Formats: sequence, structure tokens, C-alpha cells
Amino acid sequence: MLTNSRIAYHHHDHKRCITAAMNRARVLCDDRQVRLTPIREAVFKTIWASHRPLGAYDIVDQMTLASSPVKRILPPTVYRSIEFLLEQGLIHRLSSLNAYIGCPFPGNDHNDVFLICRKCGSAAECSAEQLTAAVEHTANRANFKVESQVIEVVGLCPECQS
Ligand SMILES: [Zn+2]
Ligand SMILES: [Zn+2]
Ligand SMILES: [Zn+2]
Repeated sequence: MLTNSRIAYHHHDHKRCITAAMNRARVLCDDRQVRLTPIREAVFKTIWASHRPLGAYDIVDQMTLASSPVKRILPPTVYRSIEFLLEQGLIHRLSSLNAYIGCPFPGNDHNDVFLICRKCGSAAECSAEQLTAAVEHTANRANFKVESQVIEVVGLCPECQS
């Protein structure tokens, strides 16, 4: 059962999503006394530019395009920022796409389900506690210790079904 339906599809004011995400990130980094440096912030903002997961190369390209005067952003600095954001739980990695997406509810431990639209590329994160419990139950029976579980479901979002 979906316990969270903060799923944002095409028609919404995405600027509000970005502002809210930036505010959450600043508060969380302050609390943990880690630094959201300008480059980390820029990477985070680039990932939050849409609800479509972005690969590392795309992040580098978009940051290069957005810089003025245009200067080539160095991939290693971007990769290090991605690592930082992953560690802080501010973004997630979708392994089926090898891409990154902003987390709408960072700061608490969660194992989520991503609904990935194969047509528009959007990925919606929702929590499905019963599914998490089922995975843990299965793992326990096999005496397997779960460290992370990210469930990626591919299909069509509401807007792309019509
Ligand atoms: Zn949005
Ligand atoms: Zn999340
Ligand atoms: Zn779609």
C-alpha cells in the first residue's frame, strides 16, 4: 500500500519543489554541521531541475551550459558532490538508469519505491512500508542482512497513459 503520495507529475509549480528542496537541504546540512558548498548546491539544484533522474554526464553538461561565462565544469568535482549528496540522503541513485534524483523527504531513514515512467522519464518516490516489510521478512528467512533496498518499477505515469 502506498503510504505517501507526494508524487509530482507534469502539471505543477516546480519552482516550489526546488525552493522546498533547497530549504530542506540547508536545514539538514546545518543540523549535521556539514557544508553545502556552492558546487554541492549547484549539483543538487541541477538534479532538482526536474523529476527526471539525471546521469552524471548530464549533470556535468547542464552545469557547463548554465555557467556564464561558459566554462567546462570538471567531472571529478561533480562526482564528489554527488557522493556527498548521496551520503547525506539528499539524492538517490537509480541503478537501473545509472542516474540520480532528489529525495523529497531526506533526513529520515526510508526505503522507497520509485515509479519510473518509461515515456517521460519521470521518477516518483513513494514509500511502501508493506513492501519494505516483505523484503525484510524474505531476507530474514534467508538469514540475509539487508543493507539497502531500492525498488524500481517501470511503467507509465498518469499523464503518459492517455
Ligand atoms: Zn516538481
Ligand atoms: Zn528518499
Ligand atoms: Zn510519464
